[in-house]
Amino acid sequence: MIELRTPAEIEAMRPAGRFVAETLATLRDETKVGTNLLAIDRRAHEMIRRAGAESCYIDYHPSFGASPFGKVICTSVNDAVLHGLPHDYAVKDGDLVSLDFAVSIDGWVADSAVSFVVGTPRDEDLWLIDTAERALDAAIAAATVGNRIGDISHAIAEVARSEGYSINTDFGGHGVGRVMHGDPHVPNDGKPNRGFPLRAGLVIALEPWFLGTTDRLVTDPDGWTLRSVDGSRGAHAEHTVAITDDGPIVLTDRSWLGVA
Ligand code: MG
Repeated sequence: MIELRTPAEIEAMRPAGRFVAETLATLRDETKVGTNLLAIDRRAHEMIRRAGAESCYIDYHPSFGASPFGKVICTSVNDAVLHGLPHDYAVKDGDLVSLDFAVSIDGWVADSAVSFVVGTPRDEDLWLIDTAERALDAAIAAATVGNRIGDISHAIAEVARSEGYSINTDFGGHGVGRVMHGDPHVPNDGKPNRGFPLRAGLVIALEPWFLGTTDRLVTDPDGWTLRSVDGSRGAHAEHTVAITDDGPIVLTDRSWLGVA
C-alpha cells in the first residue's frame, strides 16, 4: 500500500534524515586506510545510542536474509555493492567503500547511502561513484508531482547507459515511512510516463547503484553481502526524498554539513 504523508509528518521525518546525513558524513570522514569495518559498525552504533535513534538493520530479517542482520550499517567494499555485512576487514589504500545506513527517530525512518574511495583512487572508481551520484541527482530532479515512478527510473537509467554501465532492476528504491521498505518499488530502469503517479506526500528512497562491467550479483556465504559476479567494483548513492507541491525535499541531504 502506498501511503502519503502530510506536511507535518514530512517535517517530523527531518530529524531522522539529518541524523542519517550527519552519521554518514562522519563515518566517511573517519574511514581511513586501516579502519576495520567492525569499528565503523561500532561507531555507528554508538552514534545511534547517543541520538536515541533506532537501527532499522539490526533485527532486519527479510525472506532473502540468512539470519537477522545483526549490525547497524552496511559496509560494502570494492566488488561488494549492497547489503555488505560488516566483518573483520581493515580498509586498504584504494578501496571503494559503500556505506548504507537507516534508522528511525520518533518512529520515522530515513535511509541513505554513500560511496567513496579511501586513500589513492583509481580513475574508473571515481567515475563510477560520480555516475551513481549524477543518476541520483537526475532521479531527485524527476521526483516531482505530475511525473510517474517510471520517469524517475528512466532518469536513473539514462545516466547509467550514457556511461556504458548496465542496470540491475532487482534491487532499487522504495517507499519510506514508519518502516524502511514500503511501496512503491522504484526500479533503477523503466519507461517514462509509466507507473504510479507521483503525489505530494510520497516519501521514497532513491538509490541508483552500478557495477563496472556487469549487472549480475552473487551473494557471499554470509548470506547478505551482494558482490558483482565478475569482480568489477560497485558504487551506490541513496537519499530519502519527500515529494511536495514545492518540489522534492532531500531529507538526508548532507549539504548543510558543508559536504557533498
Ligand atoms: Mg539504504
